Amino acid sequence: MNFQASSEQELLRTTVASIAQSFGHRYFVDQAATGGKATELWDALAEAGFCGVNLPLPFGGGGGMAELAIVAEETAAAGCPLLMFLVSPAICGEVIARFGTEEQQRRWLPGLGSGSSKMAFAITEPDAGSNSHRVATVATRRGDGWSLSGTKYYISGIDEADHVLVVTSTGTDPLTGRGQLTLFVVPTNAPGLSFTPISVGIVATEKQFTVTFDDVALSDDHRIGPEGGALRPLFMGLNPERIISAATLIGLGRYALAKAADYAKTREVWGVPIGSHQGLSHPLAKAAIDVELAALMTAKAAWQFDEGLDPAEASNMAKLAAADAALVAIDQAMQTHGGNGMATDYGLITVWGMARLLKVAPVSREMVLNYIATHTLGLPRSY
Ligand SMILES: Cc1cc2nc3c(=O)[nH]c(=O)nc-3n(C[C@H](O)[C@H](O)[C@H](O)COP(=O)(O)OP(=O)(O)OC[C@H]3O[C@@H](n4cnc5c(N)ncnc54)[C@H](O)[C@@H]3O)c2cc1C
Repeated sequence: MNFQASSEQELLRTTVASIAQSFGHRYFVDQAATGGKATELWDALAEAGFCGVNLPLPFGGGGGMAELAIVAEETAAAGCPLLMFLVSPAICGEVIARFGTEEQQRRWLPGLGSGSSKMAFAITEPDAGSNSHRVATVATRRGDGWSLSGTKYYISGIDEADHVLVVTSTGTDPLTGRGQLTLFVVPTNAPGLSFTPISVGIVATEKQFTVTFDDVALSDDHRIGPEGGALRPLFMGLNPERIISAATLIGLGRYALAKAADYAKTREVWGVPIGSHQGLSHPLAKAAIDVELAALMTAKAAWQFDEGLDPAEASNMAKLAAADAALVAIDQAMQTHGGNGMATDYGLITVWGMARLLKVAPVSREMVLNYIATHTLGLPRSY
């Protein structure tokens, strides 16, 4: 077993870190606070060829999920966590790369691979929640094509995306009563598609939207994968989303611990640096261990994905472990800063919301535990 990163991966890590640090957390917070986006940061990373590094070489990538995880981690470690990495190259790019026709790949992947185009992802609905089988956005046959109608919510970054990959229902399985799901790529300027912002309290450069599809007409070549057969592509795509969520959380954990260590080395209250008190240093050390353990599981999940192995268990474990580790790391870093932990200038409370979000999304902690209970431990399903 080889734990050594390749020289290309090391170079990728240092290059992404240097680009992201040249923007830094202040840039990120300022953009988020003024309703702006991280366009300059995204463009700089895209220019270097990093925004779709996981996609096949002919489409501007050439690396794998391990490389995209490095990009997401280092960007977050510079205080600039980008949700767009989770959706555009990770889930949408991988689904199209593996389940799209050659023509669909040629149409959409060059933009996602180069980062010149973004794709949002829409599965969540007000009444479906964690139960994707209850998706009520319907796609019905209309001549040679389709008509989409329904509502999605909490859709990140659709305002900065050219397309959105939408999970629809095209029927009901007569045996199970579950929805038969079908995936479509929808241009965000399609007639009948509209979106309105949802106000959330986290600091993020991607905004969240309720998206309405009102009789949106699509030709059949916008359908990805088989009619009614989206479960396989969907579950394949959700693993990269979990891996990149975990990588983002690890970056945030590292970011918080680095700030805590710096502060604890210099702040003196009783004539010695506060970091010399074990009441502060031990929780930080424990948090560092947990972030590193989560990073190992994330690397395992990314490696399995890139090797064509089933990464579902590792991806779920990595996402849960990384969310728990990052939240403890940020919380302890805030504790280390005393009152300053609450000040936006110290850049900790401003990342807490993003880490807290990633405990709920893209899959909640409870749904991960459900998965591990049934798939890993073989326990009966409770729902
Ligand atoms: C800022 C933000 C950005 C988002 N971006 C996107 C996006 O880009 N695209 C997209 O499609 N969605 C997005 N989401 C939605 C997100 O993925 C969902 O909020 C998340 O998956 C949880 O679904 P829900 O909110 O419907 O919770 P619910 O399913 O209503 O669950 C509520 C609570 O009940 C628990 N629960 C539910 N079922 C069970 C069970 N069987 N056993 C135990 N506990 C259970 C859940 O774990 C959770 O704690 C985003 C959400 C936010 C807040």
